[in-house]
Amino acid sequence: MKKPFVAGNWKMNTDSHSSVALVKEIVSGCSNIAGHNVDVALFPPFVYLQAASKALSSSDISLGAQDIFYEQKGAFTGEISPAMLKDIGCSYCLCGHSERRHVIGEDDELVNNKVVAAINGGLLPILCVGELLEQRETSQTQEVISRQINAGLAGLNDQMISAVTIAYEPVWAIGTGHTATPQQAQEVHAMIRELVGRIYEKELAQQIRIQYGGSAKPANAAQLMAQPDIDGLLVGGASLKAEDFLAIICAAA
Ligand code: PEP
Repeated sequence: MKKPFVAGNWKMNTDSHSSVALVKEIVSGCSNIAGHNVDVALFPPFVYLQAASKALSSSDISLGAQDIFYEQKGAFTGEISPAMLKDIGCSYCLCGHSERRHVIGEDDELVNNKVVAAINGGLLPILCVGELLEQRETSQTQEVISRQINAGLAGLNDQMISAVTIAYEPVWAIGTGHTATPQQAQEVHAMIRELVGRIYEKELAQQIRIQYGGSAKPANAAQLMAQPDIDGLLVGGASLKAEDFLAIICAAA
């Protein structure tokens, strides 16, 4: 059985004081979770990563960045490379979060470049995919997800795919309070696993962890996690309150 994986995406929230305080509350809460049968990662804003890294140093919670650039160094004003993130203690990075796709305008090719660069730079990418509400309502979910998965994983060999986590995050569920039902989420997760199985060995498709994201909270975490193809949760809003995030981690563990 795969170890569940719960990640907290803080987006553009917290400040220098509250980010460290939140890390400390989560570290202390996690130490009380029996069995520790869960991987946990936190994704604070870039500017608080180093302080968060220090606060996480004696825990087994991992650190991740919300985005990366696809080059390792050079004249790319304002960008942050995989090497820099590794240097300050990051293990993970998000690639293609829906806010980057739909607010900033990242396309599939850029997202793929980031996934490849993350792996080559020694980071573990979480490839985020998800359909818009109008795409779901016009029966385009399968087409959109297939395109994002095929493009996002382009050029990855068997060894590289083992570094990847996929997050299915229906855009209509992110930050809206409208969580996908466990059945809706399971249906797409099973489809993603099948898609991965068409590109790679079936065993690799079985092993890859697929998180659900989109208004996950303590009240729905256990039901979502009970689905056979949901291996973890990518949590936005509810990860900003230690009590809620810890309850989600407990539900997943
Ligand atoms: C996210 O940011 O990836 C997310 C799922 O947000 P929320 O949990 O707030 O919907």
